[in-house]
Amino acid sequence: MQGLMMEMPLLISSILQHAARHHGDTEVVSRRIEGDIHRYTYLDCERRARRLADALTKSGVAMGDRVATLAWNGYRHMELYYAVGGMGAVIHTINPRLHPEQIAWIVNHAGDRHLAFDITFLPIVEAIAPLCPGVESWIAMIDPDRQPVSDKIGSLVNFERLLKSGSPDWVWPEFDERSAVGLCYTSGTTGNPKGALYSHRSSVLHAFGAALPDAMGASARDVILPVVPMFHVNAWGLPYVAPLVGAKLVFPGAQLDGASIYELFETEKVTYSAGVPTVWLGLLAHVKQKGARFSTLERTVIGGSACPPAMIRTFRDDYGVDVIHAWGMTEMSPLGTLARLQNRHLDLPPEQQQKILEKQGHVIFGVDMKIVNDEGEALAWDGSSLGDLLVRGPWVVREYFKGEGGDPLRYDAQGRGWFPTGDVATIDPQGYMQITDRSKDVIKSGGEWISSIDLENLAIAHPAVANAAVIGVPHPKWDERPLLIVVKRAGVELTRDELLKFYEGKVAKWWLPDDVQFVDSIPLGATGKILKTRLREQFADYRLPGL
Ligand code: ADP
Repeated sequence: MQGLMMEMPLLISSILQHAARHHGDTEVVSRRIEGDIHRYTYLDCERRARRLADALTKSGVAMGDRVATLAWNGYRHMELYYAVGGMGAVIHTINPRLHPEQIAWIVNHAGDRHLAFDITFLPIVEAIAPLCPGVESWIAMIDPDRQPVSDKIGSLVNFERLLKSGSPDWVWPEFDERSAVGLCYTSGTTGNPKGALYSHRSSVLHAFGAALPDAMGASARDVILPVVPMFHVNAWGLPYVAPLVGAKLVFPGAQLDGASIYELFETEKVTYSAGVPTVWLGLLAHVKQKGARFSTLERTVIGGSACPPAMIRTFRDDYGVDVIHAWGMTEMSPLGTLARLQNRHLDLPPEQQQKILEKQGHVIFGVDMKIVNDEGEALAWDGSSLGDLLVRGPWVVREYFKGEGGDPLRYDAQGRGWFPTGDVATIDPQGYMQITDRSKDVIKSGGEWISSIDLENLAIAHPAVANAAVIGVPHPKWDERPLLIVVKRAGVELTRDELLKFYEGKVAKWWLPDDVQFVDSIPLGATGKILKTRLREQFADYRLPGL
C-alpha cells in the first residue's frame, strides 16, 4: 500500500522561492569585483534568478545542459546556481586555482555550453577559449560599463545584459527530483579529475541535513559568511542552507585575506562562518596582530582537512568562538560528520570536551558509515581499531559522471553499495569518527601505522611553527619513517632538536619524526589543502640522517 501524501518533488528552486516568500526582506550582501559592497534581498535574488533562467532558456539552454562558472562567492554566482539548476540545467562550478590546461580538460569533459566568469579570471578564459570549441558563450559577471574586450574570446557576453533579456514573469518548472542540478570535479590527485553529479533530491536532502542543530545548525537568526568558495563543493551547501532557514548571507568576493574577512564579520554582524584551516590561520594572525575581538561571531565550521586542535582552542579560549570540526568530500555533497557535544558530554571537564571536538565527529542522519579491514570485514567501534572508512546515503555518489573509473562502490552481503572514502579512521563507542590519514598518506613503520595528521597537529601547536606537514620517507629497516617539514613563524628561532623535544611525552617514542626539514613554504592544492604528492616529489631525493 502506498502512502497518500502529495508528490512534491524536492527541487532547489523551492528553497529560493521559500526564502523570497517567507524571508523576502532578508539581505544577501556581497563584496564585488567592482570594489563596492552590493546588498539586496532574497526577493530581489529570486526575481533576478528567474529572469536569468528565462534569458538562458531563450539562448538555447535546455534541461541537462551544463553551464559552468569560474567565480568567487557573490550574488551573481548565487543567481546562476538557482537559475541554471532551477530550470533543469546543470551548474558546473570550476576551481579557478587549477592549471588552465586542467580547466580546459574539465570544461570539455563536462561538455559545458556556456561559461560565466568573474573578470579576475579573464586571463584563464583567454587561455582556455581556443581549447574549448564546445563553449558557445563566455559570460562576464560584471557591470556593463566594466565589460572587458578581448580578441581571444569568440563570443563574450555581459551577464547583466543577458539577464535583462529575460522576463521576470518566467515560472519555475516542476520536474523529476532525481534530475541533475550540479557538477563538481574532484581534485584529481591520482589521474584525471572525476565529476560528482548532484541531483535536486540529493542537494535538498543535504541542505536539510546540514541545517540540523547538531550539524551546521543554521537558523533565521544567523548571518552566514561562507569563506569556503562556491567552487569548493558548493561552499559546503551554504548557498542552499542559508535561504532554506532564512539566514542573512554575506559573500566575501575575491578578498579572502584576514583583514578583509574580519571587516565583513564586524560590519555585517556575522554570526557564522565556514572554511578550510589555512584560511583561519590568516584570519587569526590578523586578529591577534591588531589585538581585535569578534563582536558577533559565534561559531565557524572548519573542515576539508584536519583542523589543528590548537586552532579549536584558540578560537574558543581567546575569542569565545566555537569551532565545528567537519569532515566530508566532493563525493558526499560534501557533509558526512561534524563534531558537536551531546548532552552526556556537558558535565565533562573542558579538556575531555576538547578531545571530542577534535574528532571529525558524528554522522548526520542520512549518512551511514563503517570501518573495514583489508578483507572488507566490519571493525569494532572501540576508538582504536583502524580501518578503511566506507559510507552510504542519499547524498553520496553512486557513480562518477560519464561512468568514469567504473563502479566505485563496494558491496556488502546484502548487496548494498558502500562508497570507499579513501580515508583511514577509528570510530568510538559513541559513534564519533576520527580520521588518522588518507590511505595514501598513512606512514607505515614496521608494519604499524603512524598518523601524519596527529604529528602535524602537534607541530602546529608549537608557538614558533607557522605550518607543518609530515610525510613518510623510505627506511631500509622500518619500511617508512616520518619526516617533519616545517615553516617557521617570521622572526623566530627554532631548531630541529627543540622541535623534536616538544614531541616527547606527547606521542609514543616510535612515532617521533626521524628528522625535521625547514622550508619557506608548503605547497597547497587548489582548495587550500597541503599537497602531499608535491611534497613527496620535492623530497624524493631526501635521505634520513645516518642512512
Ligand atoms: P575537496 O577538498 O575538493 O572536497 P576531496 O573531496 O578530495 O577534496 O577531499 C575530501 C578529503 O579531504 C577527505 O576524504 C579527507 O581525506 C579530507 N578531509 C576533509 N575533511 C577533513 C577533516 N575534517 N579532517 C581530515 N581530513 C579531512
